[in-house]
Amino acid sequence: MMHIASVGVSKVCFLFSLAFCGLLLLLIPALRPSAPQVDLPQPRPQVRPSRVGPPHHTRAPAVSVCAGGTDSTTELNGSSVQQGGSLSPKRWPKSTGSPARQALPVVKGGELSGSRSHDPLELKDIFIAVKTTRKYHKFRLELLIQTWVSQAKEQTYIFTDGEDKELQMRTGVNIVNTNCSAAHTRQALCCKMSVEYDKFIESQKKWFCHVDDDNYVILPSLLQVLSSYHHSQDVYLGRPSLDHPIEAAERVKSDGSVSVKFWFATGGAGFCISRGLALKMSPWASLGNFISTAEKIRLPDDCTIGYIIEALLEVTLTHTYLFHSHLENLPKLPTESVLNQVTLSYGGFENRRNVVSIAGGFSLVEDPTRFKTVHCLLYPDTDWCPKLKPHNHRN
Ligand code: UDP
Ligand code: MN
Repeated sequence: MMHIASVGVSKVCFLFSLAFCGLLLLLIPALRPSAPQVDLPQPRPQVRPSRVGPPHHTRAPAVSVCAGGTDSTTELNGSSVQQGGSLSPKRWPKSTGSPARQALPVVKGGELSGSRSHDPLELKDIFIAVKTTRKYHKFRLELLIQTWVSQAKEQTYIFTDGEDKELQMRTGVNIVNTNCSAAHTRQALCCKMSVEYDKFIESQKKWFCHVDDDNYVILPSLLQVLSSYHHSQDVYLGRPSLDHPIEAAERVKSDGSVSVKFWFATGGAGFCISRGLALKMSPWASLGNFISTAEKIRLPDDCTIGYIIEALLEVTLTHTYLFHSHLENLPKLPTESVLNQVTLSYGGFENRRNVVSIAGGFSLVEDPTRFKTVHCLLYPDTDWCPKLKPHNHRN
């Protein structure tokens, strides 16, 4: 009897443990942490392409490679990391499958965070600062106002060093007289950057982008690239000036006996900073602090921006090759990719002309910078753009 009973009990135990195991198996998926939601904040973008060249051990000639420098030999040439796509005048963001989409940086995991359906980035969310000087109002600025600035009047701010009420009245653009010196010195340029920063913080806009007065901003591309990130992330986006980080004596956190290495985006190609990151820069950048930071490390404005972000805040520069300065060989940029870039520039005239290769309604004599040609390809309905000749029909 005992024997039969114990067999019965162990059978029941066996069946019970089988059922328990089954239940556990069923429960395992439910116990797993749920998959991340699409709407959760995205991780910080990490889109650094692999770097070229061996690590740099010697101290860099700091000043000559930053803004205002003339050391064009050290400039990275227009490499092709993000230059895909073909020429098409209508390439506004969100047109999925457009060639320009291939040129987008992607966040970790290969997903575009900008493809989220809610809260799409709009042009009015971007603060665009143009640095200029009184003597360039006529020869450089007017061309920008006639072209890309006309498409972004409300959010573009021109930072200059002299009054020009006539230009302001005639064109209706935002001109800020910084009262900074008109000299091309580190102090004068840092003074302008300091005012740009303060105006951006005041503006409440989501992105700060800085360009020079010899840059064309391709607004649809800018919007599309920034849409890949969120303004609350720490984003510093631009073209590295060199193929190695710059090295400078650390005179902000220490006494200058140690040096720091950091990347910076070259100011002559333009760069963008998210609001989240810009706010963190405040102790070293706001209300005149930018000028004293630059003085401490004795570096120009664009290097100082890189120093604050990379060396002090330990946020990395997102390297992009969609921003262009005239320190590059601009004719080498493939024609079919020109309209997919974010910024363009021009330099040199006559026999040393350095401009993008693009054909359109204007000859090199009529449009030596190629900015009008680019503009008419992007906005063919502009009143001063050459109208396409109607086709000759036989009947
Ligand atoms: N710039 C300035 N003050 C000056 C000379 C130039 O603010 O005395 C500005 C100029 O308007 C431009 C930028 O600094 O936005 C760079 O100047 P430039 O293109 O002449 O020099 P590079 O690009 O060779 O540094
Ligand atoms: Mn320039």
